[in-house]
Amino acid sequence: MNVLLLGGTAEARELARLLHAEGISVVTSLAGAVADLHPPQGTTRVGGFGGADGLAGYLRGQHVDAVIDATHPFAERMSANAADACARTGVPLLRLSRPSWAVHPDAASWHWADSIDQAREIAGGLGERVFLTIGRQSLAEFADWGDRFVLARVIDPPDIAIPASWTVLRARGPFRIDDELDLLRRYEIDVLVTKDSGGPTDAKLAAASELEVPVVMLRRPAPPDRVRLVTYVADVMVWVKGLRVGVAGQRRRSR
Ligand code: NAP
Repeated sequence: MNVLLLGGTAEARELARLLHAEGISVVTSLAGAVADLHPPQGTTRVGGFGGADGLAGYLRGQHVDAVIDATHPFAERMSANAADACARTGVPLLRLSRPSWAVHPDAASWHWADSIDQAREIAGGLGERVFLTIGRQSLAEFADWGDRFVLARVIDPPDIAIPASWTVLRARGPFRIDDELDLLRRYEIDVLVTKDSGGPTDAKLAAASELEVPVVMLRRPAPPDRVRLVTYVADVMVWVKGLRVGVAGQRRRSR
């Protein structure tokens, strides 16, 4: 059984390990935009497919039996392309998207934004000193924000000209709550702007709550229609094992 795993997340790495351990042939696909310090187990391919058409061609050419979309919850284009290509080729698709912070105990106290523009507008009304943890790619949309102080935390170096009033902090989570408290205090942060990535980088939310720093939370894009969605790696394994039985039966019958 050939599985294509769309990766770029810790969950995808964990899935690659588990599938490999089950003897299932898995190719992890990475966008390649950022340096990957922990390459996944098994085979990897790097770079875009060339849209949904390119992905559909890849699925046919490589005889892919199943696609697991374990990309980041904000990787909207890749997920849409996967949905389109799988619908066209008839290859089963499962979307793994880690639990949203919408169920976090403090979620009701946050300012939820449907777009970066809205997040900017809300944050602008909440304070002058902003902590941005929205990923490198979205920084450009905050770059023309006047001389407001911005602390921008990113994993890889930003590819925009950084305004003079900004401080860029390069760090990879998860983070400890004490360190997050220290950061918020040291930079006298008035407002935290982040996105609903879910997962283990939530110490900043606890720290913001403790210091009564308001949080602007960018809502996740909706997943593509008619795609089966799960939130845990274990659910993906159940799905794959179920499919493997079907694929093995089909192969026996076609011999
Ligand atoms: P995106 O906007 O949905 O995708 C842009 C394009 O990049 C896609 O159309 C595709 O190119 C290519 N691409 C994306 N993921 C790919 C993958 N796993 N394998 C091969 N090509 C891929 O995605 P993004 O938000 O730029 O994220 C890029 C990668 O970083 C994803 O793999 C994601 O899991 C990871 N990541 C994203 C975030 C985030 O906040 N967005 C955070 C952490 C990690 P083609 O159309 O040419 O196929």
